[in-house]
Amino acid sequence: MQTRTSEKIRYCDVLVIGAGPAGIAAAIQAGRAGSDCILVEKNGMPGGTITAAGVAAPGLFAVNGRQIIGGIGWELVTKTRRECGEPMPDTARWDPVFWKNEVRINPLVFAAVCEQEILAAGVDLRYHTMLAALSFQEDRWLVELCGKDGLYRITAGVVIDCTGDANAVAIAGLETVIPPRCQPATYSVRLSGVKGIPSAEKLAPVFEEERRKGTIRASDLGWGTGYSSLFMEREGVNANHIPADGAYGSEGRTRTEIEGRASALRAWHFLKQYGGSPDLEMNFAASECGIRESRTIRGDARVSDEDYQNGRIFPDALCFGWYPMDRHEFDRIDVRPLETTVLPTVPRGALLPRKGRRIAAAGRIIDAAPGAIAGLRVQAVCFATGQACGAMAHLAASSGVDMRDLPLEEIRELLRRHGAIVPEEV
Ligand SMILES: Cc1cc2nc3c(=O)[nH]c(=O)nc-3n(C[C@H](O)[C@H](O)[C@H](O)COP(=O)(O)OP(=O)(O)OC[C@H]3O[C@@H](n4cnc5c(N)ncnc54)[C@H](O)[C@@H]3O)c2cc1C
Repeated sequence: MQTRTSEKIRYCDVLVIGAGPAGIAAAIQAGRAGSDCILVEKNGMPGGTITAAGVAAPGLFAVNGRQIIGGIGWELVTKTRRECGEPMPDTARWDPVFWKNEVRINPLVFAAVCEQEILAAGVDLRYHTMLAALSFQEDRWLVELCGKDGLYRITAGVVIDCTGDANAVAIAGLETVIPPRCQPATYSVRLSGVKGIPSAEKLAPVFEEERRKGTIRASDLGWGTGYSSLFMEREGVNANHIPADGAYGSEGRTRTEIEGRASALRAWHFLKQYGGSPDLEMNFAASECGIRESRTIRGDARVSDEDYQNGRIFPDALCFGWYPMDRHEFDRIDVRPLETTVLPTVPRGALLPRKGRRIAAAGRIIDAAPGAIAGLRVQAVCFATGQACGAMAHLAASSGVDMRDLPLEEIRELLRRHGAIVPEEV
């Protein structure tokens, strides 16, 4: 990518790519700290998996009475609940069923709240825009974006990859890691009128028969190998498994979306035939499959499974993350418990692509081993790593110092001023 000398190009201090939980927090943090920040998003709404895939249950901000993640993520979730007239759950109370401690939010209200805060932070928000090319030239990134009107260029002091798929890092030519076996995706729909559906005992034999004929698969109605009523119990939300190999790119993602809809259609045919309820309807679908895992960056440092399970406090830790290692395999889930006294941390090194300059990554693509990322990928942690990258990017853009050379205390101080909890404070 060459610049023409006559071309006038907009410069921004910080460019954030992707407006999921990580990108929203990164952009708001950079903007509030005073950076000129652009946030680009391929969809027409912020929220990423929370809105586009319909999984609106951020976990976990507090563990057994201790708040471990605060800052921008906590603020957005609190504002969303307040807007809906719902109090925040009492963080002092702990349900031993870990996922019950997640904070349920209305995704549409959440999107509106985020949008207001993004704009209030002075961020230049650009929907329907994708990254096309990225190259580092002298002291800044030359960026090609693709909007509805075609390709155009900007330059940026620092880039933060929040795409969930490490697209920016890969396009910049930096190393990424594709796990040998990615967790499956999920396609959420909304089912209504499930009340009259026959019991599992009644449906299991016909399910087996249809399965032998090939009209239905176990993964269409649940997460296991045999008959499951998960799909009905959850009314279609987060209740199936869809193969997601290569979902970091458009080709693989297209296969996943097509398979997601085919799976929902098989489930629908089965329930229409055997569900016995005239009120049964499948009347809404997420706009995308929810991708659990596709690719991570190769960072300066990696959070190993042992680091995670032992709650290693990295010397350059910027935030906490707590969640059992919740790995989904295609025909089962494999949850490895985590003691509530163990508090894993995320180091700065896991957010900085190896050999990259002035580029960071946040969210589910940080450098962590397969077990560790199965805990660190959750939404509260994505907000926290996003905010950490937003703070580093602001300091790097305003000082010219590379993010890996910034004094840690300076980053932590900025984060604290914006409500974040940094590890030494617990
Ligand atoms: C089925 C499922 C259930 C889950 N359940 C839970 C749960 O109960 N609780 C919990 O806390 N977490 C849960 N998670 C995990 C969590 O939702 C995700 O790991 C998290 O949302 C990842 O955040 P992110 O910001 O890294 O990426 P994403 O949420 O994927 O956001 C990435 C954003 O970047 C945009 N983007 C991507 N590529 C480009 C590009 N090239 N140019 C411009 N924009 C781009 C996307 O459109 C998207 O908006 C679940 C995940 C799935 C899939």
